[in-house]
Formats: sequence, structure tokens, C-alpha cells
Amino acid sequence: MAEKIRIGVFVCDCGSNIAGYVDVKELAEYSRTLPNVVYVKENLYTCSESGINEIKAAIRQQNLNRVVVASCTPRTHEPLFRGTCEEAGLNPYLFEMVNIRDQCSWVHMQEREEGTNKAKDLIRMGVAKAALLEPQESIKSEMDPNALVMGGGISGMTAALALANRGYQVFLVEKQAQLGGLLLKLDKLAPSGADAAAFAASQAELVQKHPKIRLMTSTEVREISGYIGHFKVTAASGGNRDQFGVGVIIVATGAQVLKPHGLFGYNGKRVITQLELEDLFRKDAFSAGNVVMIQCAGARIEERKYCSRICCMVALKNAIQIKERSPGTGVRILYRDIQAYGTENEEIYRRAREMGVIFINYDVSNPPKVEEEKVTVAHQLLGRELDLPADLVVLSTPLVAGEDNEAISKLLRVSLDENKFFLEGHVKLKPLDFATDGVYLCGNAHYPATVREAISQALGAASRASIPLAKGVMTVEPIVSTLVDEDACRGCGLCVALCPYGALEIVRTEKGRKVRVIPVACKGCGVCAATCYQHALSINSYTDEQIGEQISACLEAQG
Ligand code: SF4
Ligand code: SF4
Repeated sequence: MAEKIRIGVFVCDCGSNIAGYVDVKELAEYSRTLPNVVYVKENLYTCSESGINEIKAAIRQQNLNRVVVASCTPRTHEPLFRGTCEEAGLNPYLFEMVNIRDQCSWVHMQEREEGTNKAKDLIRMGVAKAALLEPQESIKSEMDPNALVMGGGISGMTAALALANRGYQVFLVEKQAQLGGLLLKLDKLAPSGADAAAFAASQAELVQKHPKIRLMTSTEVREISGYIGHFKVTAASGGNRDQFGVGVIIVATGAQVLKPHGLFGYNGKRVITQLELEDLFRKDAFSAGNVVMIQCAGARIEERKYCSRICCMVALKNAIQIKERSPGTGVRILYRDIQAYGTENEEIYRRAREMGVIFINYDVSNPPKVEEEKVTVAHQLLGRELDLPADLVVLSTPLVAGEDNEAISKLLRVSLDENKFFLEGHVKLKPLDFATDGVYLCGNAHYPATVREAISQALGAASRASIPLAKGVMTVEPIVSTLVDEDACRGCGLCVALCPYGALEIVRTEKGRKVRVIPVACKGCGVCAATCYQHALSINSYTDEQIGEQISACLEAQG
């Protein structure tokens, strides 16, 4: 005999986030009238300890076999409520969440009655779907206990060492012949004054000597297939190809400094970049009577809207360097806004001023003009043009995305932002993870970062990557695609081509070419199920029947 459906509905006030804008009491009353609902409770905070205990108690005492929580966003709270069901002995996938906060009270703050009616619609839809939910079992997959780190700059070396020190085998692939990345081109690091190249060399030595790190320089990653736990990597160096398997991947491929061709008379001689100035310092070849630095050269303009974050600090550091090497040299920094965030950088800014560095604000609509032996700038406060003597002009240029980013994003099926830097899975909840499981990012590959920030991110990414490695077995949510009708599948491969996560493949079976789902790689996005004209694929907990029932409930008039 079919099990009798017994649904419990928990309506959350979310303090005043929901209760302040929709009539929660009315929602609770309304929920009691819905089919299969046998228990309803309004909570001040359903996610609080008392709210959680009320759900558990109701499951046991009321014999609930489905739970609906009408509250906030599943993105943050669904795992908690699923876990609650599980602790009370109910399969966690017999749970449905209805978002009456972000999708209702927050967006209808001024329309209490209409907002309340919409919340009723949403709850009715959730209850209708909940009645058709089926129990699901988590998917488990063993992890290959190895890691690939792409990039041998400071973030790549740090991440590789952090993982190797935890005992995991690391493959560190760097396309240049030498480890160190941008550090090799810098003179001193602020605020410590440490020698950048020496620091890079000390880290490189640790990497080279580490028994758990297999270093592959002058090597490029050519192919990556598979999914978390089982990535298959093909790397190439010269004519040699090498294949190995890893469980996780960290992208630490860095960025490059914009060459400001065509900007402010850049010529690499009298008009140079900050990086080229550091090169003069390193070679002890700096000499100038008057230096003018121009900030935001090629940044925060129509073509490249972002602030590169670190160039102001680089200019301050190098201005101080000039004053220390040659106190009589005049240094003027022409800026749009000075980004010296945090007390430490503020202190560096103050120090530069005390040493006699002069700061002059310029307007982007009337930028400085670099001429023979001088730079002309329109002074905002004086309201007139100033001629500044300059035998050396230094342009503070932004970091731009690595030239290989597009190719790497295709290899890994991960996203880039509008400036072609790699895009994290979620700006707050997954800042060091990609949306694709088992792939992490750090350093300048993500956005321009100081050396200290790059190191922190690398340690963070290595920690994130260690979680699945340490578990040894990956447990994945079972809300994934399933081949529900093998006979219907024609093996056309349309779904395979469209799956953004590489979670489908065509295999030969006794019945011919058929699609096969790789559940651990699937993110349950639904593209395949929506694409398949044969209805051969379906997403667990989002079946055609369940969604159809939700739509029918939506179209019903409120009782
Ligand atoms: Fe084609 Fe559908 Fe089979 Fe995919 S599941 S291969 S779209 S018939
Ligand atoms: Fe790929 Fe999305 Fe289908 Fe999963 S649900 S197989 S991720 S298209």
C-alpha cells in the first residue's frame, strides 16, 4: 500500500525579516488547509536551536514523512535543514525549502497583502512538490590523493608546499623555466624591505627539495578530463607528454603587467613602468634628478574599468626607494585616488610624504601630458596647469589577466570575469573555490593581489583542497542527472555537448550508443534534462512530474 503522505510545514519569521513584511500567522493558517499537511508551526527563527529541535520533535511525534520549511535561501540554510531531517531519522531529500524571504518579503516590503498572497503561492507549490519527493542516497567517490598546482609563482609555490607538507603528492606545473613568477622582476617587498628575488629563491629551493613535490618547469597543461577525485591531466614539455591523475587542482597561474604602449609616451627609456624602475634598482642603474609617476596608466578607463589595487602601494614603495637612494631627487606622484588601504599602507603613504614626495591629484578627463623633460598637469585646487620637471616618467600600470586564462578556463570548464581573471564560485561563500568541485584558485589569477595577500590566498586554497583529500572519499549531493529511460536515449550527444561540467559521456552498450552520467561531476543544473527531446534524462528531486505539480499548484486559485 502506498505510504500516506504526512507533511509538516515550518514557517519562519526570520525575526522581522519575514514577519515584518508579510503576515506569517496567516501563512501558517493557510498552510494547514493544503493537501497532505498534517502539522504546521511558526518559528521566530527556524534555524535556531529551538527551531531545529521543534522540527526533529515533530518528525518523530507526528510521524512526518515530508518536511517543508518556508524561510530564507536554500543556498545558506538547506544543508542545515536536511541534516536536521536526517538526525530525526527522515531521509534528508524528503525536505523542500521555500524561499519566502529573498523571493518575497525582501522584494515586496511595501506590499504586505500582495506579498503575503505570493508567499501562500510559494508554500502551496513547495507542498505540492514535497508530496512527490523520493528518498535519495548521497553519492560517494574515492579521491586520488594527489594535487595539481598550475603556476610556480609565489602563490603556486606556497600552495604546493602547504599540500606537500600535509603529505599529499603534488604535481607543480610551471610554463617558465624558472620558479618565482612576478617576484623575480621585483626589487624589494614592502613593508619588510625583503629582497624579492631572494625570497623567491628560498621558496623555490624548498619546492625543489620537497620529496612530495614533482616539479615540472617549462611545461604546460594541455588536457584535463574527469572530475573531483579523478582528474586526468596531460602535461607537455617540448615534445614530451606526461599523463597523471590528481584528485584536486589549484589554479595559481598569476597575471601579467600591462605594457602601456601608446600611453603617456611610453618608450621603455625615459618613460618606463614601475616594473622597469624596479629593474633599474636591482641593477643599481637608477639615476634621475626629477621623477614623475603617473597612476592609473591604462587602468580605470573605458577599456579596463577595474582598479588594479596594488599599483598605488608599488608607487609609494618605489618613491621611498628613490628618496632613500637619492634624497635630492624630486619625486611627484600624479594620482586620481590613492589606494593605501589599512594602517600599514597608510603609514607608508605618510612616510613618503614626510620624505618629500609630492602628491598631485589629476582629473581623468584632463590627464597629464608627457613632454620633453617635463610633465604638464592641470592642478585641481590651483585651477591652473603646472609644469613639472621630469627626466624620468614612471607609469603605474595595472596587472592584467594572464594570456592563457581563456585556454585554461576551457580546459577546466571554469568561468572568467569580464576582465578575464578567473571567477570564484561565490564572492562570499566560495572565494577560493571554483563552481566546479575540486578546483580552487589563488593569487593574481583571481585578481591583483599583494604578495602577502597571494600567500594568504594560497594557504587558504590549499586548505580548501585538503578537505576532500583528507576525507579520502567524496560525498556528493544526489541531486544529479539520471538516465531514467535508457531505451529512449538515441545517443545523439546533444546533452553531452551542452553539459557545462563535463558530467556526461556517450558509451557503447548492448543497446547501442547511450549517454552515461558521471554523478560525482554533475551539478544538477538541469541543462541536459531540459535539452533531451527524448525525455531520457531527469534530475533527482526536479523530475518533470514534480515540477509539473508545482506549476499546477501555482496556477490554482488560492483557497
Ligand atoms: Fe541525446 Fe537525450 Fe540521449 Fe542525451 S539523453 S544523448 S540528448 S537522446
Ligand atoms: Fe551536466 Fe547539468 Fe546535466 Fe548534470 S544536470 S549532467 S551538470 S547538464
